[in-house]
Amino acid sequence: MENNTIIELEECPSCRGVGSIVHEGGWNVQVECCDCGAHTVYVEYSNDAEKQDAERSVARLWNMGKVIKLDPGE
Ligand SMILES: [Zn+2]
Repeated sequence: MENNTIIELEECPSCRGVGSIVHEGGWNVQVECCDCGAHTVYVEYSNDAEKQDAERSVARLWNMGKVIKLDPGE
C-alpha cells in the first residue's frame, strides 16, 4: 500500500534553520534542527501505522513551535 504522506516542516522556530525528521532506534521519532539542535519531544511507535502517526505528530509540534531549545553558552 503506497500511502506516504509528504510531511511539510516549517523552518526552525528557534533559528529558522532546516528541520528534519529523525528516527532513533527504530521505535521513536523527533524533528530536529540541523543548525541549532532544537528538537521536539520523541514520539514512540511500534508499527508502520503508528510510525506515520508519530511522524505527523512531531511535525505538528515542530510547526507549532513546540520545541526544546538547547541552552546557548552553557
Ligand atoms: Zn534551529
